[in-house]
Amino acid sequence: MGLFFSVKYGNENSIFPGRAAGSQRRQGICGILMQEDMEMSDRLANIRQEILDGIKERANSRAEAFELRKQFLDSKTGKIGQLMKEMKSIAPEERAGFGKSVNELKEWAQQRFMELDEKMKERELQRRYESERIDVTMPARNVETGNLHPVTQIRNQLMDIFVGMGFEVAQTREIENDYYNFEALNIPKDHPARDMQDTFYLSPEFLLATQTSAAQIHTMEKKKPPIKIVAAPGKVFRSDDDATHSPMFHQMEGLVVDRKITLCDLKGMLELFVKKIFGEDTTTRLRPSYFPFTEPSVEVDVSCFSCGGKGCKLCKGTGWIELLGAGIVNKKVPENCGIDSEQYSGLAFGIGLDRTAMLKYGINNVKLLFESDLRVLRQIDDN
Ligand SMILES: [Zn+2]
Repeated sequence: MGLFFSVKYGNENSIFPGRAAGSQRRQGICGILMQEDMEMSDRLANIRQEILDGIKERANSRAEAFELRKQFLDSKTGKIGQLMKEMKSIAPEERAGFGKSVNELKEWAQQRFMELDEKMKERELQRRYESERIDVTMPARNVETGNLHPVTQIRNQLMDIFVGMGFEVAQTREIENDYYNFEALNIPKDHPARDMQDTFYLSPEFLLATQTSAAQIHTMEKKKPPIKIVAAPGKVFRSDDDATHSPMFHQMEGLVVDRKITLCDLKGMLELFVKKIFGEDTTTRLRPSYFPFTEPSVEVDVSCFSCGGKGCKLCKGTGWIELLGAGIVNKKVPENCGIDSEQYSGLAFGIGLDRTAMLKYGINNVKLLFESDLRVLRQIDDN
């Protein structure tokens, strides 16, 4: 150990501290030379062991393996790299042996780290396979698709039928002012018809639409005849609430304005529509009625599609079911919109979409349509 006292040029990390200074002593002190060789081989063996321990204990990923490799093989900071630097402090006659040993260690280490990297690569791939594994025997997750609301289904069917007859679709509004909802439709402020509809007023001027007929006015103000529209989506509101009435319900308004429009056009058109909705055997009848915005006005009944006209619970024994209100447009209405009522006449109809859905799908309480009970809604898929 005496050599360690005479360190002059080496450093503490050096494998052969003070080698250069000790070279002249070495000639006479064989024991010390042997000790130095021992030191070298011990040092190399230690590094070898450190590498093996590191691989065993500290390398659990490719990144860790890379860090470990750097500690030994980095040309500047690695332990083996440091050994190479010490070459210049070795006596010339010993450099070859020293270099050979260090090179062998270096090659051995490179081989170990290459194997380690392969092993880590394999292990990480395995881990990825495990985490991304797909079990093809697992039952598929059920995707619930749902279906359209019965009222939407009926609205779509009606729009298809009327668009097929050449109608355009106009928008209805949920909020109207007094003029469009009543006055322009020949329902002046003191008219008793206003009592027929219990209106939700938002202010003295604005209200929730009580029927879709305001769409007639909006259309006739913008367009000149010929006019042929159905208005949707048709949400309307009245203060009314029982098994067959809901405070919010849906209508579809139809309006045709052209030369020589008569009740025959109305009957022919409605006949076609009820056959498509309720079946080919369905017929219609018109009963006189009263609406302020049509003259004459009619209620349109359809033959009972449940009993075929013999009389049943659905038709209350009459063989007929009341379906919608219609009529020839009261002259005052197009005149309010600047249309010459001498040249043009019109027909109008309003269909209750909820009522039509209830009749078609056998729903006995209008509330079932708006309670969002999936057990009910799932049963009606008519698309
Ligand atoms: Zn019947």
